[in-house]
Amino acid sequence: MKLKRHPEHSLLSRPHWLVEDFNKKTFTNATPCFRRFLPLLLCPLSIGWGFSAHRKIIDVAIQHVPEPLHNFLKTNRDWLVEHALDADLRKHSVIGERERHYIDLDEFRNQHSGMECMPPANWKHAVSEFGEATLREHGIGPWNVQWQFNKLIEAFRLKDKDRILRCTADLAHYVSDLHVPLHTTKNYNGALTGQLGIHALWETQIPELKMDAFNLSRPLNSPIYNPACADSIWSVVLDSHECLILVFGAERETMTEIGEVNAFSFAERGRVRQKVRSEQFLLRYYLKLDGQVERRMVDSIQACAIFWYTAWVQAGQPQLPAEESEKRRFCATIEWLMN
Ligand SMILES: [Zn+2]
Repeated sequence: MKLKRHPEHSLLSRPHWLVEDFNKKTFTNATPCFRRFLPLLLCPLSIGWGFSAHRKIIDVAIQHVPEPLHNFLKTNRDWLVEHALDADLRKHSVIGERERHYIDLDEFRNQHSGMECMPPANWKHAVSEFGEATLREHGIGPWNVQWQFNKLIEAFRLKDKDRILRCTADLAHYVSDLHVPLHTTKNYNGALTGQLGIHALWETQIPELKMDAFNLSRPLNSPIYNPACADSIWSVVLDSHECLILVFGAERETMTEIGEVNAFSFAERGRVRQKVRSEQFLLRYYLKLDGQVERRMVDSIQACAIFWYTAWVQAGQPQLPAEESEKRRFCATIEWLMN
């Protein structure tokens, strides 16, 4: 799992920003309501951090942000929390959305040595080395975070409230996803090692079972303003990847100790009955992880606060838009879903 850093991965250097192409949307004939809820019907468990974790991350991250941005985010807290999962919901309706949530680092190898390596942080350099199709196939999570960060800066500059809120929720989602170890490997659900279901186990079942015991509101580990935050997403990805040894090792150990007969149960998710790890398995696995899920959640929360605040500062600390009427907000949301 040890990866060599690409020479471009300096936390001090800023990569060349690329304005992201907007992807064409499909399902244009379906009603907005159907488009919105179809992914929930298709894919109840494979959604990045689970529903509650993504929402909790945004909720707690708002607490870390200084004024005046804090007040703006707090005022719009309900909307932001409600839309924390929008990026996942788009996976089934927007071409090019799926690959924004991960990067399979183990797919990247040096052309000459064949050794695993980190791809270039600069998108143009990465494209010239691997080709865009290959990059998209293996996931473009870190580059996407850099593009989304720029989008949020632009939204602040425009003082466009709807755009600020959408970019704030989306950026938090993508940054948080890359804190999940299984979003950095092609073996993302254990299919290659006979550990199917490990994705939901780590990022949904454990947080759902233990969230109340997590200490998520810890003091920030680093300054809230970090002009190198977008570059630092590569360190986040590397840290996530290095967590994989424990993620897989602890699962295998737990399975050996309690046996397959005791390892599984069934969970009802809406109208779907799904085979998941049993509570007995969860409790034992959780202890072996030694706080790993909680630490990655705390790091996600702190990173979101830093990204948001830094974007606002880099936009020139503009005055924040005032509250709009509920009717205006409802119309803007419908308009956004239709486009
Ligand atoms: Zn996601």
